[in-house]
Amino acid sequence: HALPADPDRSNLRRQIRNAAFSYVTPRVPSQPRLLHAAPDVAALIGLQPDDDQSDSFKNIFSGAVVPDEADPYAMCYGGHQFGSWAGQLGDGRAINLAEVKHAGQHWTLQLKGAGETPYSRTADGLAVLRSSLREHLCSEAMFHLGVPTTRSLSLIATGDAVLRDVMYDGHPEYEPGAVVCRVAPSFVRFGSFEILASRGEHGLLRQLADYTIEHYFAGIAAGKEGYVEFFRQVTQRTLAMIIDWQRVGFVHGVMNTDNMSIHGLTIDYGPYGWLEGYDHAWTPNTTDRQHRRYRYGNQPQIALWNLAQLASAIVPLVGDAEPLREVLAEFQTEFSAQYAMMMAAKLGLDEPRAGDETLFEDLEQLLHATETDMTIFFRRLAAVGQAHTIDDGIDFLKPIADAFYVPAELTGEVLDQWRSWFTTYVLRLQANTSNDAERARRMNAVNPKYVLRNYMAQLAIDKATVGDVSLIHELYDLLRTPYAEQPEREAWFAKRPDWARDKVGCSM
Ligand code: AMP
Ligand code: MG
Ligand code: MG
Repeated sequence: HALPADPDRSNLRRQIRNAAFSYVTPRVPSQPRLLHAAPDVAALIGLQPDDDQSDSFKNIFSGAVVPDEADPYAMCYGGHQFGSWAGQLGDGRAINLAEVKHAGQHWTLQLKGAGETPYSRTADGLAVLRSSLREHLCSEAMFHLGVPTTRSLSLIATGDAVLRDVMYDGHPEYEPGAVVCRVAPSFVRFGSFEILASRGEHGLLRQLADYTIEHYFAGIAAGKEGYVEFFRQVTQRTLAMIIDWQRVGFVHGVMNTDNMSIHGLTIDYGPYGWLEGYDHAWTPNTTDRQHRRYRYGNQPQIALWNLAQLASAIVPLVGDAEPLREVLAEFQTEFSAQYAMMMAAKLGLDEPRAGDETLFEDLEQLLHATETDMTIFFRRLAAVGQAHTIDDGIDFLKPIADAFYVPAELTGEVLDQWRSWFTTYVLRLQANTSNDAERARRMNAVNPKYVLRNYMAQLAIDKATVGDVSLIHELYDLLRTPYAEQPEREAWFAKRPDWARDKVGCSM
């Protein structure tokens, strides 16, 4: 590799000192083909309904053509991966293409998988269709579930083969490449601050903090208190996001600090997954199966740990760790309070009361004792009313019967425990002021009927790989109204099929 005339604009891999980003040139794909565009996101940035059919759409959002007004760049960040400082990490395969203002809102458009950048380390800067499709569909599914997230405008196949080191029969595996255009106010991460602090680049650290506050945290005054308030708001947004993850059973899988958005948006859909059987220990990340750091039940603690890393990074700006420590301490109490509110909403309780914690904990313990599908259980629970009869047999479980993976487990002591839980629950419902219909309506607004189960994404991947994008469209439409009944699509309201048991997605 010879350096280009202007070395500052080189995509060549290197350590970048004293810079928050580097100008780069996206790689030109050989044959871009639009697989899916999200109309809601297109509208957000001011595009017209048919714009996605044009050549310029697929050229611009695949990196083939850089608009004259754009000056693409990759951001510099580091991060803690699995608890250890990992140095400079990114953006290894994401390029900020442009910023757009529309309807009073400001958006950054980012191409993921558009080629190497100075931050690509030993990797290729590319993304495969499989992971890109998972990111595109899941970003939009999360948004429509009401979970803060980066959005996805488009999924475009590049026409290029991407080498992945998955070895079958000793042969390297090539996969079709793709580019996703992500959309968010910004892609500033915890790691964007950490890298500058780790290098002692405190002037730039302050500049990044001031820029971030001025552009994205309106109303925060400059100065030391301002940095503390900024940190408080990041903490609150992160907490709100985690509560939503726990509510819908989303497991991120790689909660490294470089994957934590300063806006509290879910970012970087890699080996993510959805709880099927309700299980605090479950993680979709096969490389984390031993320590299970990023398991479902650990997400709140990891968020707090990550926030502590961000706090450390901005201590030089505040000059004192104590006020940041106080914000971190609030996280614990706030989390418990918000978790209780969230569980009360899932169970259809008008408001949390003393003693409800036991109801939640007993339920969680029972959901573990019997392999119970989280989504189906909570959705079906809306049908249990104040007059529900608890019999000595098994009929009291009828409304939720199809949530159980192994009905044979429902005998003896476990069945007695379920009976006792439902007895308490129905009594508790009778203390509600709202009636059954009103309660069911509210439960169905927080307990989704449809989530992007791993096997669903896998089916869409299998079809797209042989050129059939129909399932991407079908799943996108389904997940656009995840709380609606959609009786014509009821087939997707089903337990994971046996063949998909414990299959996970892959981040590469
Ligand atoms: P992740 O664990 O997916 O968040 O990856 C950590 C970092 O590695 C990302 O922020 C990227 O900068 C970089 N990275 C991941 N995959 C690639 C790739 N295929 N090419 C270049 N960089 C990559
Ligand atoms: Mg990442
Ligand atoms: Mg990733």
